[in-house]
Amino acid sequence: MIRLAGGRLVLSDRQLEASLLFGAGRIVAIEPVGDAGPPAPAIDVSGLLVVPGFVDGHVHGVAGTDVLDGSDAVSVMASLLPRYGVTAFCPTTMACEPEGLDRALQSVRAARAAPRPGSALVLAAHLESNFISGEFRGAQPAACLRQVPFGFTYGHVVRDRPVRSYYDGDQILDVISARREDAGIVTLAPELEGALELIAGLVDLGIRVSLGHSGATFEQAMAAFDRGATRATHLFNCMPPVHHRAPGLAGAVLARRDVAAELICDGYHVHPALCRAVVAAKGLDGVMAITDGTALSGLPQGSTATLGLQRITAGARAAHLDDGTLAGSVATMDRAFRMLVREAGLDVVEAARLCATTPAERLGLGDMGVLAPGARADIVVLDAALEVVRTFVGGLEAYCRPSG
Ligand SMILES: [Zn+2]
Repeated sequence: MIRLAGGRLVLSDRQLEASLLFGAGRIVAIEPVGDAGPPAPAIDVSGLLVVPGFVDGHVHGVAGTDVLDGSDAVSVMASLLPRYGVTAFCPTTMACEPEGLDRALQSVRAARAAPRPGSALVLAAHLESNFISGEFRGAQPAACLRQVPFGFTYGHVVRDRPVRSYYDGDQILDVISARREDAGIVTLAPELEGALELIAGLVDLGIRVSLGHSGATFEQAMAAFDRGATRATHLFNCMPPVHHRAPGLAGAVLARRDVAAELICDGYHVHPALCRAVVAAKGLDGVMAITDGTALSGLPQGSTATLGLQRITAGARAAHLDDGTLAGSVATMDRAFRMLVREAGLDVVEAARLCATTPAERLGLGDMGVLAPGARADIVVLDAALEVVRTFVGGLEAYCRPSG
């Protein structure tokens, strides 16, 4: 057992000066100051803030590695993310060809089958799918967009086919069906023909559906939520802006308390004032901070990397394709947490709900994202500047900032 002693704990409803005791991967107790508790080696965290580990539901890459690199890319990301306070994440793919998607999901499987101690927990992947709007594709490659196949149903059979350079939506769905235990979330545009049936089919497979990269009307969005979609992908980005007489997808997301919205919290993709307004509209349990981070996250300005197969360059506040298209962020979750506190004006309890609690809850991971007895010991220690000092994943130290 280990005791984090003397810090300020960020609980889901308040801050508390107390010690945190954990062992065997779980939080055992929260001990008020002066309470001796059972003996355990102590780590002095006085003057520091102790928050639940961040859960990033939308991250394409970090520090030079992209999920679509395949091979051990996902394991490499899992080893890098704890230094940014991330203790669990959904590796996120772009619209791509079926072979590339399959390779990425193999990489997810390998990382989940043999989790490495000291690495962030790899959750089922988030697929930004081929079934999105051409007009609102953002940095998704136009050549990879496909129509929704007709008649997608539960139990869709994987067919044996030679690898072809031309493919249709069926082949993408074959990969998703075959690897459904590692496909956690699918982003799609509900206005595409056949999308409502596809939503129902994916939900039947146990996959969460997120609406995004879409020009859906308010009515189309509401119909999709009624068919089982429960999330929205990077709210406001890659969808039409809200108009007071035509609220569209973004307006539908704001209006539905049962729908959880991803929000890119880099202070650039969504203005901090609007982040605050979204929290006011939807409540803390309806908003999930994400990075939408790329292989450029954590690298200096001017660095280049790939997103899918496309080259991206790190600007001052975001990543861009060669043609200037905004292509995801250069953010990390610790920066997202700082932005929420310093620029959006949330307190640390609220910021922790957005960065840890709600993302976990909305993935059905009730024992994660909170500092409470019985929860997984996914813990981040922050200094007064809200920089990461230490990260524990499942009770094991995954990152410790070098002293000095
Ligand atoms: Zn996207």
